[in-house]
Amino acid sequence: MRTFEIAAIPADGIGPEVIDAGAEVLAALAQRAGDVRFNLTFFDWGSDYYKKHGEMMPADGLDQLKPFDAIYFGAVGAPDVPDHITLWGLRLPICQGFDQYANVRPTKIIPGVTSPLRGVGVGDLDWVIVRENSEGEYSGNGGRAHRGLPEEVGTEVAIFTRAGVTRIMRYAFKLAQSRPRKLLTVVTKSNAQRHGMVMWDEIAAEVAKEFPDVTWDKMLVDAMTVRMVKNPQSLDTIVATNLHADILSDLAGALAGSLGVAPTANIDPERRFPSMFEPIHGSAFDITGKGIANPIATFWTASQMLDHLGELESSERLMTAVERVCDAGILTPDVGGKATTREVTDAVIQAIHGSNT
Ligand code: NAD
Ligand code: MN
Repeated sequence: MRTFEIAAIPADGIGPEVIDAGAEVLAALAQRAGDVRFNLTFFDWGSDYYKKHGEMMPADGLDQLKPFDAIYFGAVGAPDVPDHITLWGLRLPICQGFDQYANVRPTKIIPGVTSPLRGVGVGDLDWVIVRENSEGEYSGNGGRAHRGLPEEVGTEVAIFTRAGVTRIMRYAFKLAQSRPRKLLTVVTKSNAQRHGMVMWDEIAAEVAKEFPDVTWDKMLVDAMTVRMVKNPQSLDTIVATNLHADILSDLAGALAGSLGVAPTANIDPERRFPSMFEPIHGSAFDITGKGIANPIATFWTASQMLDHLGELESSERLMTAVERVCDAGILTPDVGGKATTREVTDAVIQAIHGSNT
């Protein structure tokens, strides 16, 4: 019996709704496989914890997480706590503390889910966005002076290091190389941002030499949004900075049907620390408690987690079940259906048990 210890942090809003669904699906996968066990330990960290304790997680939070094989994360964000506190108090300290420098965001059109792009269907949009996840615009470097005065100044300094850019570039080239089309698009804004971004372009050209079989091109981030909408078939693997990829991947999720289907993996490729798996979306206050949160993103990220843990059969079984359920039209309202989180989850569990793969 293979046993994996997984730290579950549902956190805020619809986070607990989708992580509970994901926990049930993991249990079903373990039962179906018979020779693997996923032990989930739940942590009650998040905005409610913050309201009681004045911090999003305890001071030794990272030490508590360190022994786990993976982290399964919901979402942070509450209407009555400033967003920079929820983000910098929990999600970013984990990403940065565990040096999960590769944020991997696959997007594809799932059969049964409709893209808002006319004429774009299954197979036309199949991307993986690699987001630099440890530095760049989200280095937390900046400050405010003369607060509240007319001469107030606020800075937000993006930091790019040769080591940081090289390692994400290598990760992206390697990932592109592992995909059938061996195609990579490097996104920057090196016309306007002429220091860190020009360094990106230079490092991309250097690393490209290590991967002669990968075809690669460069795009400015603004033009990239147009290409994603107008010519999605021309893209495959994409690498971009922390901020640029954050924005591009929300667009990618919407183009694939909904943010509710878009997953993400925060990976420490060197496996020194646990990696973290989560849906891209936030806590979605507007639908919290209604039972209609789309759990597909949280299932898909579970499949990424299973890949990372080496449980490839369960991973594939899960994605096949998800595709079958979506294709059968069992969809939540964000993707045009009428089903509840419960109904989608039950259908996926049923498909897992019924699968003969
Ligand atoms: P959001 O992703 O929570 O929601 C955006 C829209 O998408 C909403 O209309 C929501 O109903 C819909 N949506 C999102 N996930 C869905 C799902 N699974 N099923 C169905 N519909 C879904 O973004 P927001 O509204 O900008 O932010 C809400 C809070 O979440 C804020 O506090 C924000 O800071 C936080 N946030 C957190 C994360 C994170 O934890 N990684 C990411 C983004 C936003
Ligand atoms: Mn985001």
